Amino acid sequence: MEKIIRKNIDTLELPFASGFLSEPLKPRENIHLLGTRCLNCGVVLLGSRDRCEACASPMVKIIQLSRRGKIWSHTVMRYVSPWPFAIPNPHQPPMPVAWVQLPEGVQIISRINCNPDDLKIGLPVELVIEKGWEDETGNDILMYKFQPEKKERK
Ligand SMILES: [Zn+2]
Repeated sequence: MEKIIRKNIDTLELPFASGFLSEPLKPRENIHLLGTRCLNCGVVLLGSRDRCEACASPMVKIIQLSRRGKIWSHTVMRYVSPWPFAIPNPHQPPMPVAWVQLPEGVQIISRINCNPDDLKIGLPVELVIEKGWEDETGNDILMYKFQPEKKERK
């Protein structure tokens, strides 16, 4: 009990890395992943960048990426994942992981919140922002993953 009270007063919710999540960080349902669109060659990259990694142009624009996409390819990780997932790592294998294709043309690697048997190419998925882990001072680190898109109700 004492630990819970102290945590509510002193801890923050922080993004897993700078320049990857739109702000504000509340409500989480409104957060978008950020991307960089190159105004020279048109490539879209995950995260905020000063220049294009494809053509090195500094003519780039930071954009909000769509919260919905489709699984382009997938696998099930059966080892403990590397940074930025692993500091410290509360996630235990097996973990569904996929390349998610977003409408902007970028593919990003993400954990998928589903049963490994439910993974399939073309599956519509939506962004989820949630606590990924706690840092060494007890702050909640917000991480992204995707989950199968929930059907719209009429
Ligand atoms: Zn470029």
